[in-house]
Amino acid sequence: MTLTLHATDLGRLSVSHPVSATSAEVGAAPAATFAANQPADASSDSSAAEPRSSSALPALHAHSALFLDFDGTLVDLVEDPDAVVVPSGLTTTLQKLHTRLGGALAVVSGRSLQDLDRFLEPLRLPLAAEHGAQRRMAAAADAIALACPDLRDVVRSATVFAAANPGLRVESKRSAVALHYRQAPHLQAECIRFMTAAVEATANVELLHGKCVLEIKPSGISKGTAISDFMKLPAFKGRVPVFAGDDTTDESGFSVVEALGGVGIKVGAGATLASRRCAFPSDILRWLAQAESDSVLGSADSLQQQLASP
Ligand SMILES: [Mg+2]
Repeated sequence: MTLTLHATDLGRLSVSHPVSATSAEVGAAPAATFAANQPADASSDSSAAEPRSSSALPALHAHSALFLDFDGTLVDLVEDPDAVVVPSGLTTTLQKLHTRLGGALAVVSGRSLQDLDRFLEPLRLPLAAEHGAQRRMAAAADAIALACPDLRDVVRSATVFAAANPGLRVESKRSAVALHYRQAPHLQAECIRFMTAAVEATANVELLHGKCVLEIKPSGISKGTAISDFMKLPAFKGRVPVFAGDDTTDESGFSVVEALGGVGIKVGAGATLASRRCAFPSDILRWLAQAESDSVLGSADSLQQQLASP
């Protein structure tokens, strides 16, 4: 096998990850390539220097722990977040993978837990919702909510701001407030100014910049801390974590899994800490389907071999 990975420097964003292995060699999904139809995500971290290469997705094995973002990773981004289409067969694939990985599969999303359950019904998976502020640590467990600041003033002022600026949408979650401007991208600067001021007026919160969305959430809670906490549980402990995500809000998760010897998979364009990349959610769906259909989920050592190869 001739797969080559550049070491990831977790202190800064990586810029390239050339991979020379074929998908057949690593038992992975075909490496997608960035073409003219790049994801139209208007990512806030896009830049002229962003990497354009794709890399083979890692083979899952019996000792993997799988973490998956939802929007832009399992489903395509759409203008109205309530209008996402869950691909046919996704819930069945996730259910089978969850079982075959011994329960070590969790969805890690900025969505509310209720939203995720609604889109994935009748499936109940371990979840880290609202960037980890709401959690269901096992499929059969009750949801728990971490303590969060009072955001009612932020919701009120954001609602007034959105009413005065057509195209904006406020999403009030249990422990976060999101301001969506996908339908009014020309208002990005005004939205950033408004949300920055709201953060400065509220204790113990921080601002997340996502794809056409700004979100105020409790400080110190992130997808990375959620994944780290999952990895301490018996169902996940000792496994090799793999996390797929598409947005800047997923970078904390990439940092954690790469530091644990696992693999981050960036979906779409943009600088990232993830060591692997694909272009579209459809690439992730093919990769998951292939893993689910693989009778042994790849060989037990395949992922470590890929990471160790020069
Ligand atoms: Mg996403």
